[in-house]
Amino acid sequence: MESKLKEKGYEQSQIDLIMNLDEDNQQKFLDEYDQSLLKYLSEKDFMKDKLDEYQKYDGLLETKKLIELVNNDVINETNSIKLKKLYESEYFIPKNEKLYLEYIDKYEDVDKMREIVNTRRYLDLYSDIVDTDLSKGVRMLINKYYRLPADYEPDDLVAVDPALGRGYLRKEVYEAYQPLYEEAVKQGFNLKVVSAYRPYKMQDDLYNGYLKKDPQEVVDTYSARPGHSEHQSGLCMDVSEPGYSLDNFYQTKASKWLAENCHKYGFIIRYPEDKTDITGYQGEPWQLRYVGKETAEDVYRRAITYDEYYACFVE
Ligand SMILES: [Zn+2]
Repeated sequence: MESKLKEKGYEQSQIDLIMNLDEDNQQKFLDEYDQSLLKYLSEKDFMKDKLDEYQKYDGLLETKKLIELVNNDVINETNSIKLKKLYESEYFIPKNEKLYLEYIDKYEDVDKMREIVNTRRYLDLYSDIVDTDLSKGVRMLINKYYRLPADYEPDDLVAVDPALGRGYLRKEVYEAYQPLYEEAVKQGFNLKVVSAYRPYKMQDDLYNGYLKKDPQEVVDTYSARPGHSEHQSGLCMDVSEPGYSLDNFYQTKASKWLAENCHKYGFIIRYPEDKTDITGYQGEPWQLRYVGKETAEDVYRRAITYDEYYACFVE
């Protein structure tokens, strides 16, 4: 056997590794395996009886990871391409790996699965709620899983000039909004802030008012439960134009302009129409959330929800 392997072109160190295998596998190194399989032999978690599978998926993933997935019977013919896509994704979060593997076979679309795991959407809404990390400042996350304390109130609220609308915003947000507003005016739009900061109690009243006319699962698609509204942070505002309500604001040219330009001023459209399954809210083309210019531009460029962006790059 040794001499046959030598004839085949293997070096002595390689032959030593091959000779540790049973005869069946030794023969395969003569007949069907190629040099690329040798790298598995020197890995610490290498299992002799898994060689065929290592060969089958060789090159798909980094060697150590492939060995781990093969050894644990995770990888198979139907999920191998999805696994490759998952491990190569820039939105892969290592601490979520176990969950990804738990859900990989349950979803046809691996990107959707990853998005769901990253945003905790595999959980029921409003379950496993955590207090949001206030130290993240203007980049804090507020959604159905991250809440603000009931007594949270920003300490730098300023009044919106009546010419621009009504309400209060955090100073930094209002200052960022002014150049956006001025550019909107130049474009011929007449934006008005119709709702800005809302204290916890106000959100509580609002939400409970809605509960009187709609079932809770419906209310939850358009109104945040108290503590879970971005409005309590003073970082967001609803805008519209005179003659339009929030509900038909999407018909305005201003709404399209905002969607394409607000990131230049540090804002994002927090609830896009095509991401309702992730955000849990109906599309809200009117809600601008301030996150700072650099972050807003990055979120816009990536076209992912802020919920997922936060999990990947802020948390
Ligand atoms: Zn709003």
